[in-house]
Amino acid sequence: MKRATDAALTAHSYYEASVVRPLSKGALIGDVEADVAIVGGGFAGLSAAIDLQKRGLRVAVLEAQRIGWGASGRNGGQVIAGLACDMSLIEKQLGATAAKVVWDMSLEAIELVHERRRDFKINCDWQAGFMSAAISARKAQALRENVDSMHARYGYEQTYIDTNEVRHWIASDRFAALAYDQKSGHLHPLKYTLGLARAATQLGASLFENTHATTVTKSAMGYIVHSRDGAVRCKQVLLAGNVYLDQLAPRLRKRIMPVGTYIVASEPLEHNRAQALIPSRAAICDTNFVLDYFRLSADDRVIFGGRVSYTTATPMNLAQSMRQRMLNVFPQLNDVKVTHAWGGFVDITMNRAPDFGRVPEIGSDVYYLQGFSGHGLALTGIAGRIAAEAMAGTSARFDVFAALKHRDFPGGRLLRTPALVAAMSWYKLRDLL
Ligand SMILES: Cc1cc2nc3c(=O)[nH]c(=O)nc-3n(C[C@H](O)[C@H](O)[C@H](O)COP(=O)(O)OP(=O)(O)OC[C@H]3O[C@@H](n4cnc5c(N)ncnc54)[C@H](O)[C@@H]3O)c2cc1C
Repeated sequence: MKRATDAALTAHSYYEASVVRPLSKGALIGDVEADVAIVGGGFAGLSAAIDLQKRGLRVAVLEAQRIGWGASGRNGGQVIAGLACDMSLIEKQLGATAAKVVWDMSLEAIELVHERRRDFKINCDWQAGFMSAAISARKAQALRENVDSMHARYGYEQTYIDTNEVRHWIASDRFAALAYDQKSGHLHPLKYTLGLARAATQLGASLFENTHATTVTKSAMGYIVHSRDGAVRCKQVLLAGNVYLDQLAPRLRKRIMPVGTYIVASEPLEHNRAQALIPSRAAICDTNFVLDYFRLSADDRVIFGGRVSYTTATPMNLAQSMRQRMLNVFPQLNDVKVTHAWGGFVDITMNRAPDFGRVPEIGSDVYYLQGFSGHGLALTGIAGRIAAEAMAGTSARFDVFAALKHRDFPGGRLLRTPALVAAMSWYKLRDLL
């Protein structure tokens, strides 16, 4: 992936515009020692850093850009229970008992967001409530079946809202039904990421920005993680680099595909006008394969995400086309300006299940977390926690996830994007049915 393309996508982020970043942590220069080196200063790497430090292990985090530069600082902010894939896939692969363990961890992931906010006083505009939204009668039926099935299989409570009631929950004619989930919610992701970084630092972790980890080699102590101007000598390594790891772990790269997704922020609306759009202020995500996701920010903007790109090129007329998607849902915002447009890449796996494990070709103490498939806000937290557990010697929970089977994307480096585009065209068509 070309970093220049990605840099353009971060330039106009509402999140960056609404935080004051602390002074840069500085790059790694020279050699340092740590128990664990973590590559990646996003939710996953920082969550692991916090738990490892709490367990008495010394951590060094290497971030190629700035903390939260990747997906963690740019996403839709929706903190949602479950995984990107349907739980039936997990049941099929691991059986009902292990699937229940996975589901429970996805709920623990939301609790962990609250724990971190509370313990480290992270003010990140938390708002409870999330709604899945169906755009057709057929999808409404599927949504109802899903609500019933999640209740029957996992005891998970959501409120099904049928066509007659939809208008009480959202000022839009686009949706045929909704499912309201009180446990899930939304937050300002960059404020949360920077809060995690502050917490990790307070606990004693060393964070290095502008430090691109180039290779991991074996040493007498364990491993050396090299960067241009320095190295971390450590006993264990965690790779939490999302789609950006490139040549650091080529095998992992084959199992995920970068898919672009984009967001606009409107200008702030008058408070009552914003409130009338979504009176519960819940985050909303439709159930299409190529989905729209949106919410109100704490300062009464509409944060509207959607579109996908299977090439890493930034779409033409990004702000205008995303504004049009917003107007498809809320035509009454025709007089409202969009002030920010940005985007990022999600790390999708073939089956949309998360991909956690070890990298034996580098070493048995090299772990990785990837494949959140656009559903990583909460899950990255628990992923970091169970990676820390495994590195401290208790791998039972990590190994449940590590047992999930994944396939490489077909087509090799050059062909797999066209293959994915073809597959996605079919899904786009299916969304319209
Ligand atoms: C536009 C967008 C909207 C999204 N919306 C939602 C949402 O609403 N809800 C949800 O649950 N999920 C959402 N997601 C997904 C979610 O943001 C991600 O799953 C999550 O942030 C992944 O966190 P991470 O720590 O794995 O990766 P990242 O946050 O991407 O962090 C990885 C970091 O590793 C660094 N890195 C990589 N390689 C190296 C190297 N060699 N050396 C040093 N550093 C390196 C990168 O610079 C990067 O900062 C969205 C994603 C995007 C892009």
